Amino acid sequence: MVYRLKKDVWYVGRCCECGACISTCSKNILRSPRDGDHPELEVREKRIGSSHIVVDTCFFCEKPCEDSCPRLREWEKGQILHTVTVTSRLPDTSIVNALLIASIRRKLVDGAVTWDIDRETFKPIPKIVTREEEILTTSGYQYLWHPILEVLNDAIYKKGLKKIAVVGPPCIAQAVKAIRTSNNNKLKVYKNSIYLMIGVFCEGAYTQQLVQEIVDRFDINPYELNRLIMDIKNKVLRIVMQEGLMKGIPLPEIRRYMKQGCARCTDFTAECADISVGTIGLEEKGTMVIVRTPLGERSLKYAFMEKTLKPSETSISLEEIQKLVIDKERRKRAQEIDSLTSLMLESLLGKKSRDEVREKLKIAWR
Ligand code: SF4
Ligand code: SF4
Ligand code: SF4
Repeated sequence: MVYRLKKDVWYVGRCCECGACISTCSKNILRSPRDGDHPELEVREKRIGSSHIVVDTCFFCEKPCEDSCPRLREWEKGQILHTVTVTSRLPDTSIVNALLIASIRRKLVDGAVTWDIDRETFKPIPKIVTREEEILTTSGYQYLWHPILEVLNDAIYKKGLKKIAVVGPPCIAQAVKAIRTSNNNKLKVYKNSIYLMIGVFCEGAYTQQLVQEIVDRFDINPYELNRLIMDIKNKVLRIVMQEGLMKGIPLPEIRRYMKQGCARCTDFTAECADISVGTIGLEEKGTMVIVRTPLGERSLKYAFMEKTLKPSETSISLEEIQKLVIDKERRKRAQEIDSLTSLMLESLLGKKSRDEVREKLKIAWR
């Protein structure tokens, strides 16, 4: 059984539903969550005579699911090579799309796993893109959730991509880093295929109930929605309609629709990415880009050379971003409570002594 995933991730509400374990499972027994907050494990049975015996599919496995899980590791702060505020020169104005187009033109990558929206229902969908026309029609990350890494196998085996860019918020960047730094043989194919990670700032992602709330509150249809903007600075969700009109809902009023795993997430700026992109309010000043690795640097340089991006005349200060970084780091407390819950579970199962658990509890509540 997938003991560590269950005990330290699923049962303590820490799963961010990134989908990495679904793709990397060597026996293909993990499925996308339907209603729950974590992937589902398919139970396989063997028939012996007239009885059915449940098979422990995971017993002889190298457990790539655990080695690709971002929630089974502690993450250090990412490096910053430099920051720049930019605006797009493309018609769709998305900075991520501008980076992707330039990276594909210059053959830094041959395709990308990115985010789109079903226009009828405003449901997020993963999209594998290889051509500029496809990229220009993708909506990007809209703070609504899909376990996007579950399409990694399609990108590698169906589309035949060899140098993939992945776009996503910090938890996706952590999963990608877990894969890229793992020595697990079963992760080799993913490790060799993911080439560039473009991170997107994220304070929280929401379930589809948020769309229902917007639709009910403003008496509109999902197809009338254009995009969502998290104006964290003013604590408002901005809703942009197809005809350009903007509506707003205070963030505290939508908190109940935030995904469970987000309450444990402490990374705001995608510290594990090669390059992080984001804004903290409306985009009138431009979008901040944090270059973290030489590969990220190349993708930004290509975007300037291909004239898909240009430096903005105004700039966003790193100090402003740092305030939000510190705010999100406060969620560490929830992580500490999770590890205590795990310990207590182990004690109940007899794997840890009750004295040991009692000691840890004393330290935690000091
Ligand atoms: S232990 Fe192996 S078979 Fe079991 S869920 Fe993980 S990867 Fe799949
Ligand atoms: S890999 Fe992702 S989806 Fe799977 S358990 Fe870990 S956080 Fe959840
Ligand atoms: S808040 Fe964290 S866990 Fe939630 S979507 Fe954003 S990066 Fe992922």
